[in-house]
Amino acid sequence: MKVLLLGAGGKVGSVLGPRLEAAGHDVTGVGRGDAVEPGGHDAAVDFTTPEAVRPNVERCLAGGLACVVGTTGLDDNDLEALGASARDAGVAVFVAPNFALGAVLMMRFAAEAARHMPRAEIVELHHETKLDSPSGTAKATARLISGDVPIHSVRLPGLVAHQEVLFGGDGQLLTIRHDTLSREAFVPGVLLALDRLPTLPPGLTVGLEAVLG
Ligand code: NAP
Repeated sequence: MKVLLLGAGGKVGSVLGPRLEAAGHDVTGVGRGDAVEPGGHDAAVDFTTPEAVRPNVERCLAGGLACVVGTTGLDDNDLEALGASARDAGVAVFVAPNFALGAVLMMRFAAEAARHMPRAEIVELHHETKLDSPSGTAKATARLISGDVPIHSVRLPGLVAHQEVLFGGDGQLLTIRHDTLSREAFVPGVLLALDRLPTLPPGLTVGLEAVLG
């Protein structure tokens, strides 16, 4: 595929670009201040900032380009608007709060645990430059396990992306934990999303679990 990679110079983008090329994709990198030119591409991938992502993706969708979005910080209004633009353009916009397979499994296991141990709290820990808080993954986990779950956010140097879901019961504690140790963790999920993009219905699809099978 000819892929427009928005945020190519960022922490995720700089890992993703070479790996997409190695997987056979032809990548055009776009950074802050560069024009977003959807023409001549098959798909866009966005790992930018909460401020940049919506205008970037709107521009790609208006140019008829299906999009894979990893940038977090989009609220329900943003998602609804992007879904409507994608439907109008007849293409898919795929948004995942976490492209790491292990994190998706953590959320799935947490949903199962919550059926039996309803008292839960989430601790999410990220590098100090992460702009949004709480993380998209923590919010998605909270929605999955009941909605009204306290989330504690830690921002410190040395961390990448980590989350614990703690379930307390009489005389016991269950902890489900996932650690992203490097940004390589996001590559297989993005490759899978790009692979499935042409088969998705026009409009919004959310979550890696929707394409995992
Ligand atoms: P980062 O290192 O700050 O990278 C963001 C990049 O986007 C920077 O190179 C920035 O350029 C560039 N940028 C800013 N505005 C832009 C624009 N209008 N058009 C194109 N590029 C623009 O951040 P990161 O750690 O790579 O993370 C990026 C996003 O992905 C964040 O929202 C993060 O939370 C999210 N994320 C999601 C997942 C997931 O699995 N879904 C995983 C990791 C991260 P400058 O340096 O010039 O500002």
